[in-house]
Amino acid sequence: MPRNRDREKRAIVRRDGSACFYCGRPRRNPLVMSIEHLVPRAAGGASQLENLRLADTLCNKFAGRRPVADKLELRAKWHMAEGL
Ligand SMILES: [Zn+2]
Repeated sequence: MPRNRDREKRAIVRRDGSACFYCGRPRRNPLVMSIEHLVPRAAGGASQLENLRLADTLCNKFAGRRPVADKLELRAKWHMAEGL
């Protein structure tokens, strides 16, 4: 069921800024990004702000349901690849 997540997205932007969590590319309109659950909901991850990040839909999809440690490794690699 689609739901308006803009409120949550804005809260994440206030905390983290408007760049993709994975590749670090800044987005002029961060609301087009999707909400990433660092610990997936399927693995018991909370829908609370501390578990949420904003990421490009594609980056988010690619990261999929990897464990958090793998996601952080991906993030580090992609930030390096982008020279960020
Ligand atoms: Zn990205």
